[in-house]
Amino acid sequence: MRKLTFTFIAIIFASTIFAADFQPIPPELQTKYHFDLSKNFYADQQAFDKDLAEAKSVADDLQQYKGKIGSSAKDLLTIAQKLERLNPIAQKLYVFRYLNYSIDTTTEAKFSATDQAVSDIYARVAFVSTELSQISTSDLDRLIQQEPGLSTYRFFLEQNTRYKPHTLSSDQEQLLAALSPDLSSWQSQLFQRLVDRTKFSEIETAEGKLNVYRDRAILQKNKDRNIRKDALLKLYDEYSSNADLLGFLLIKEANTGNSLGELHHFQDAFDSSLFDAYLTDKQAESFFAEIGKYASLMQKLIQVRKEHIKKISGIDPVEPWDMDVVPPDYKRPVFTITETTTIIPQALAFHGEQYIADLKRLLDPNNQRLDIVKGPNRRPGAFSMGVYGLPYFFYSYVYNGYVDDLITMAHEAGHAVHYDLIYQNKVPFVYSDGPSYFTESFAMLNEFMTLDYLYKNAKTKDDKIFYLEHWLDVAMRRFFDIVMRSEFEYDAYQKIKSGEIHEPDQVHELWKQEGLKYVGEDYQKHDFLKYNWSFTPHYFQSPRYYINYLFANLMAINYYQQHQSNPEFDKKYVALMVHGFPDTPANLLQKYLNLNPFNPQAVKDSMGVLQQKLAELQSLYGE
Ligand SMILES: [Zn+2]
Repeated sequence: MRKLTFTFIAIIFASTIFAADFQPIPPELQTKYHFDLSKNFYADQQAFDKDLAEAKSVADDLQQYKGKIGSSAKDLLTIAQKLERLNPIAQKLYVFRYLNYSIDTTTEAKFSATDQAVSDIYARVAFVSTELSQISTSDLDRLIQQEPGLSTYRFFLEQNTRYKPHTLSSDQEQLLAALSPDLSSWQSQLFQRLVDRTKFSEIETAEGKLNVYRDRAILQKNKDRNIRKDALLKLYDEYSSNADLLGFLLIKEANTGNSLGELHHFQDAFDSSLFDAYLTDKQAESFFAEIGKYASLMQKLIQVRKEHIKKISGIDPVEPWDMDVVPPDYKRPVFTITETTTIIPQALAFHGEQYIADLKRLLDPNNQRLDIVKGPNRRPGAFSMGVYGLPYFFYSYVYNGYVDDLITMAHEAGHAVHYDLIYQNKVPFVYSDGPSYFTESFAMLNEFMTLDYLYKNAKTKDDKIFYLEHWLDVAMRRFFDIVMRSEFEYDAYQKIKSGEIHEPDQVHELWKQEGLKYVGEDYQKHDFLKYNWSFTPHYFQSPRYYINYLFANLMAINYYQQHQSNPEFDKKYVALMVHGFPDTPANLLQKYLNLNPFNPQAVKDSMGVLQQKLAELQSLYGE
């Protein structure tokens, strides 16, 4: 361990010295930091077409069981096996095109065509879920007795019966499935087009010309205050030229979601999404209320940071474009891609050998599972994605070499390795995926642990302050930001449903109210911040997903606490992770970790951890 630590410090030192010619990804390595999809997915169009044909043929084959699902135990097993063949192929087709589209948005037409083809296939087999939901528990017991091979699928089959009150007739479900791209995919595509067509300014800096949208993370770290201010104001000004359409999009998205929810006998879209996640509207509301009691804690963090920035820089008042300021003689740590991919496995070593071996395969540039070099026609954001049975991939719009980039990679690698291990651990396909807050909580713990590692290994007080600030940024500032974004989306959907919100300006105003509650004075002073909500791609790309992060963050803070205090924790935690989703979230968390994060009481414990870390930062500041 000690040796690793020294190597690591030497690396940081080297980067700081050569910061002036720092190259996040040296030119000679850049080709390796692009996906090789031909190696991992399809070598050519023929291979793609072959899979598409097979998916269609399995879907055709399944038609013979229409109206007869559940009438024969033997047939039910055959159907389950055919679906286990069909689903990964359909996923593979979709993911292949999606990854291609992300690295080259000019392939949108091909992506849309595949989206439609896959939706058509799912539409043709939608009757299976509909009919499965009609099977009673006693029928299920009888069928499993007749065909013991079905016992593997018990929990999966039981989950369908949950949906009995929310399932329409086969014909209706088929119709909705076929309409799905036109109901729900266009919003994300229009969002992308709005971003693509916006002419964002380029600003002249010592590092060359930087784009106020693409390079906003770099510009906000510029030493020149006028550049930071100019960059932020231009960014908001240019981005919000689309604010009316972005507000319009959210309203349409909410209306469609709410209507689909009601059609399925839910109260609304959120009622439906939360049901998928084994949660309820009431739970969400009780969490918003409980966390709302700690809004002053977020305001305190911002005030503490502003006071410190004032002290080290003399800036007064500290404005939104000053929040990344570091002491004048301090060199912000930067990491080449090679350093990042060395540090992450060291920081996450507590997961054990199997995890680290898989992580290293992901990060090995020779495997070309990372696509992180900046360029034209790329989708904003970062994500990991894959298919059961194949290794997962990590995409990022750009890798700049800041600690944020390192942390993003630790997060997304958490998803990739989680799903890789599920497959390696031979979890059946039907249990290979589940509520997103699980995988998000694992990914978030990776961020906390990576920053902890950097903090513990920092050798100067300024470095310690820098990393603890970042720890609080991801565990606390972002937690409250997640709360704001989740509550905003939740409230927006309710108010759009009731008709209280019907104009884009009302959407912006709703966000401003969240800002005033949690951030405070900046939202009073700077009207442009009311557009900040629309920078969240999730509202358009994965509607109603944000609330997953809220539960995930609370879970991750709990894991963090247990990792420090309970020597048994690491093993149990990894066991929870690699076993997939063969039971309800509440049962799995109880079984492996004796944890119930769905009780609002859990909020208080998590806030205690944050309060303690904030006090630690204040003491480092010397207050
Ligand atoms: Zn994530």
